[in-house]
Amino acid sequence: MTEAPSISEEVVSELLAWGGPRLRDLPWRRTRDPWGVLVSEVMAQQTQVARIIPRWEAFMERFPTPESLAEAPLADLLRLWQGLGYPRRARALHEAARRIRDSGRFPSTVEQLMDLPGVGPYTARAVAAFAFDLDVGVLDTNVGRLLARLAGERLRPAAAQTMADDLVPKGDAWIWNQVVMDFGATVCTARTPRCDGCPVNKQCAWAGSTERADPAQGSAGVSGKQARFAGSDRQARGRLLAALVDGPILAVAVAVVMDRDSVVADRLLADLVAEGLCRRVDDEIVLG
Ligand code: SF4
Repeated sequence: MTEAPSISEEVVSELLAWGGPRLRDLPWRRTRDPWGVLVSEVMAQQTQVARIIPRWEAFMERFPTPESLAEAPLADLLRLWQGLGYPRRARALHEAARRIRDSGRFPSTVEQLMDLPGVGPYTARAVAAFAFDLDVGVLDTNVGRLLARLAGERLRPAAAQTMADDLVPKGDAWIWNQVVMDFGATVCTARTPRCDGCPVNKQCAWAGSTERADPAQGSAGVSGKQARFAGSDRQARGRLLAALVDGPILAVAVAVVMDRDSVVADRLLADLVAEGLCRRVDDEIVLG
């Protein structure tokens, strides 16, 4: 068992009382359907919530069940996924939908959920808590930062997870996790935490102290900065996939579409083909 700092029950009740009535209204918070929750969590990985809302609604209309996605060609999903980035996630979701269809049941424990392609500890816990009401702590970047500040110390991932799990009030995993995620995103923010109006500033070990280093800085599992996009392989891959949504592209034109030299373009194309995101048909490249 990992040693983790403890936080008083008073902090838990203060945060619940403060955050419960202020929860952001998000469409996937109106459902306990595990498929809808899983899709929202996969979309939310490194994509802003505001951008996801219309995309999640369109996705759920087109693919309301794992079976409906499992029956569809990957290319259909990749077209719908355009602009969300990280097409590998879409492919993993497609594979997950097939596994769920084939097994005939939706996995309902953290361990079972983690067996799905593309589902790591964070996503598994989010689905477990938000769809199945399991008493597990959902540890995203914002929650990790909040916990490190409350404890006043840097946290390794295992300690942060243990702390997050220990804090969940029994039977209230859904509301508790939603509240702390919102609180970390809107009050205890990375750069300008609103400590003055914070309902737990009296119990917070850090509480905006400028004399001590912010414990959230350097906490393991609490950073989560995205790599630079301009000039990246991700940008070049995205350009090709975006172009393929409109139809096949001649293989000889791939480097131009990616705006990369032919050595880099060949390497990236080989990766995309190996990942099943596109394929070669004669002298053309097609989606999925
Ligand atoms: S007092 Fe400041 S640092 Fe502490 S939890 Fe509140 S907002 Fe975060």
